[in-house]
Amino acid sequence: MEKTAVQTPYYVVEEKLLKENLEKLKYVIDKTGCKILLAQKAFSMFSVYPTIAQYLDGTTASSLFEAKLGKEKFGKETHIFNPAYDPRDFEEIVSLADHIVFNSVEQWQRFRFQVEKADHPVQCGIRLNPEYAEVETDLYNPCFTGSRLGTTLANLEGKDVSGIDGFHFHTMCEQNSDVLKRTIPHIEEKFGKYLKEAKWINLGGGHHITRQDYDMETLIQCILYLKEKYQVQIYLEPGEAVVLNTGFLVSTVLDITQNGLDIAILDTSAACHMPDVLEMPYRPEIIGAGKPEEKKYTYRLGGPTCLAGDVIGDYSFDKPLEIGSQVVFCDMAHYSMVKNNTFNGINLPSIAIHHTSGELEIVRRFRYTDFMMRLS
Ligand SMILES: *Cc1c(COP(=O)(O)O)cnc(C)c1O
Repeated sequence: MEKTAVQTPYYVVEEKLLKENLEKLKYVIDKTGCKILLAQKAFSMFSVYPTIAQYLDGTTASSLFEAKLGKEKFGKETHIFNPAYDPRDFEEIVSLADHIVFNSVEQWQRFRFQVEKADHPVQCGIRLNPEYAEVETDLYNPCFTGSRLGTTLANLEGKDVSGIDGFHFHTMCEQNSDVLKRTIPHIEEKFGKYLKEAKWINLGGGHHITRQDYDMETLIQCILYLKEKYQVQIYLEPGEAVVLNTGFLVSTVLDITQNGLDIAILDTSAACHMPDVLEMPYRPEIIGAGKPEEKKYTYRLGGPTCLAGDVIGDYSFDKPLEIGSQVVFCDMAHYSMVKNNTFNGINLPSIAIHHTSGELEIVRRFRYTDFMMRLS
């Protein structure tokens, strides 16, 4: 990436790469007749929703605000799942949603009468927990022992679900289709008789469909298998896969210091601008950089906050970094803008689109008032 005159830090989404991902998702839609929704929890950069809406069927939301954003900025189908609906939000949720997925039969019974009064058709679903997942980190595993997400078979049996239109499963995280293939028998064994009555099955997110080594044909087989066996519409709602490897976070070196090793302090922060680096944790790739000592000049990269652990990682470069050098982090579209914060009063990165025409458009800049208005 060339050094740009745009003020850093900024997130930039490459329209060309986004469209390449969307073409892959569209291929799945065309091959199977499934519907694919954008999970806004991962990515809510609504300035590119019109582009995404050319390929996908709608959005899914985790809250009233996300549902409202999806409805207003994306259109098409609006779905929502929430572990427990707040009665104060529910009337507005009904007015926005096409599908409402409940975490338990009790939640559905509690709100059912409100859904039935809606002035447009609203489908109701229950999220099920097949108690099978292959996610290693509990933080990201919806089926860990004691999980509050989804209804287990023990909690479903004996309850009247007539009136429920479909079922929802979300058990995966950044996984290939072999995991889905191994999950389906568990779903069927526990919930097969319920699926026979359903109009649709939503297979949630966590499908890493746009990753280079993703096995698309196995996904297609899984979808067609369920669709034909149960005579249902299949939905997928990936978040990460929609924008995987389409975004960057561009930052500038503010200072260089030494303490046993060379340390570069950037104008972007792990704690504020890429929280998953600390939370997951993981090491983001940097354009032109290698592992420590792999290239000639190694630095520890840290952020401008006072948090001691605001460290992105150790990286090596062919040329020494200087004050003013740009450092570009890869794969920064998902779970970044939606999770960032202004801890320490650090400003949020601007948001930009690099259009296929070559134009770099800054769609949002943040300022002091954005920080101040969240506080009082
Ligand atoms: C997080 C989430 C998604 C999206 O997951 P990705 O890992 O970003 O694909 C979809 N559906 C539900 C219910 C979720 O909680």
